[in-house]
Amino acid sequence: MITVSDVKQYLYCSKIIYFDHVLHVPKPPDQKLETGKELHDSITSKEKRRKGALFYDPELDQAEKMFRVALESSTLGLRGILDYLVKTEREFIPVDYKFGFSHNGGIHLNHKYQLAAYALLVEENFKTIVKRGFIHYSKDRVNVQIDLDDEIRRRTLKMIREVGQIIEEEVEPVGTKNPGRCTDCEYSRYCVGHQSDD
Ligand code: SF4
Repeated sequence: MITVSDVKQYLYCSKIIYFDHVLHVPKPPDQKLETGKELHDSITSKEKRRKGALFYDPELDQAEKMFRVALESSTLGLRGILDYLVKTEREFIPVDYKFGFSHNGGIHLNHKYQLAAYALLVEENFKTIVKRGFIHYSKDRVNVQIDLDDEIRRRTLKMIREVGQIIEEEVEPVGTKNPGRCTDCEYSRYCVGHQSDD
């Protein structure tokens, strides 16, 4: 079973899936994890105190709020822990927190499909249809809405299958074509030739 984070990583660079799930390369300690957890707790406690959910909207005033929701689907072969799930009379709204800046007020592509993967899990776990979700970017305090349409669902399902394929077939994929990503990659020390290959 893969995780929703794998979908995000796959979009960043498919080779990361190979290092993580096929070669089982140990990850170096992540300095950002502790800071991320503190920020996560801080956003969650603010959101618990807030009258409505996320931002002022009469529709969200009476919403039920669920935090750190564990989701799993054997059909999708996917699991993940969603930061925040808003439930109104009419809909379920998944929300993912990000501890960086938005993309000029918009969403980063890998975050979009990560949220879509959570939405698929919410649909299956709560027997519902998710119409929209949000990414909350903490650095610029922006909530970006994503509308879940058939195209996003189709692409997300395809990515989930492709991640599974890398793990099953154990074939090393070609890495990202964007060398800037290698600078921040936790696997760069093991990734021989990544600079020149790109
Ligand atoms: S170093 Fe670059 S090519 Fe290698 S896994 Fe990381 S992002 Fe991908």
